Amino acid sequence: MNHIELTPRQSTILDIVKTYGPITGNQIAEKVNLSRAALRPDLAILTRSGLLGARPRVGYYVTGKNPTDLIASTLGRFRVGEIHSIPIVVRENCSVYDAIVTMFIEDVGTVFIVSEGSCLEGVVSRKDLLKSTMGGKNISDMPVTVVMTRMPNIIVTSPQESVLRAAQKLITHQVDSLPVVDAVQVNGKEKLQVVGRFTKTNITRLFVQLVENKE
Ligand code: ADP
Repeated sequence: MNHIELTPRQSTILDIVKTYGPITGNQIAEKVNLSRAALRPDLAILTRSGLLGARPRVGYYVTGKNPTDLIASTLGRFRVGEIHSIPIVVRENCSVYDAIVTMFIEDVGTVFIVSEGSCLEGVVSRKDLLKSTMGGKNISDMPVTVVMTRMPNIIVTSPQESVLRAAQKLITHQVDSLPVVDAVQVNGKEKLQVVGRFTKTNITRLFVQLVENKE
C-alpha cells in the first residue's frame, strides 16, 4: 500500500498546497470556492496525518513525508498498554459449558484460561468451543483444559510492545486476539500474568480515533 485514501477534495487541497504553499486556510478556501469552515475537517485530517504542516501566520505547507512511513510511525508510536481491552478469564477447573456461558455474557470471541494469580494457562476461541459441542459429549462435565490451546503455544504481547508489532503477530499467526501479559515469578517458576486482551477491534478503534482526531 503506497497511499492513504484521500477524498478528491483532500487531494485537491494537497495539490494546491504543493503548488502555492505556504498558503493560508483562507487562500485555499478561495481557490476551491468553499468557506474556510467547510475546509476545516479536511485540513485537520491532512495535518493530523502528517502530510501537511501548519504554522501560525505562515500557513500550510507540505511536509514531504511518505504516507506509508507515517502509518508505520503512528502505529509504532502507540503501545499495546495504551489501547488493550480488559481480559476475560476463567479458571482451569471450569467446564466447556462455563466457558461458553462466559463468552456470551462478556460478549468476547476469546476466553483466557488462568491458574492462581491470573497466570496464563490457555486460550479458547469460538471455534474451539463449537468443535467441542460436536461429539455429543456432556460439555458440563468436560474440562475446558481439554479443548484449549495451551502454554507454551500461545502467542502473547506485553503492555510495552508497539501496536504495530502486536498487529503483525495477529496477522502472522492468524488469531483474533493476544493475551497481554507481564512476566512474573511464581514459586521460582517464570509465569505470564494476564493483564489485558489485545484484539483486532483495538486496532480498528485506534484507526477511527486517529482519523476522527480524538486520539
Ligand atoms: P476462531 O477459531 O474462533 O476463528 P481464532 O482464529 O482466534 O478464533 O483461533 C484459532 C485457533 O488458534 C484456536 O484453536 C485458538 O485456540 C487458537 N488461538 C487463539 N488465540 C491464540 C493465541 N493468542 N495464541 C495461540 N493460539 C491462539
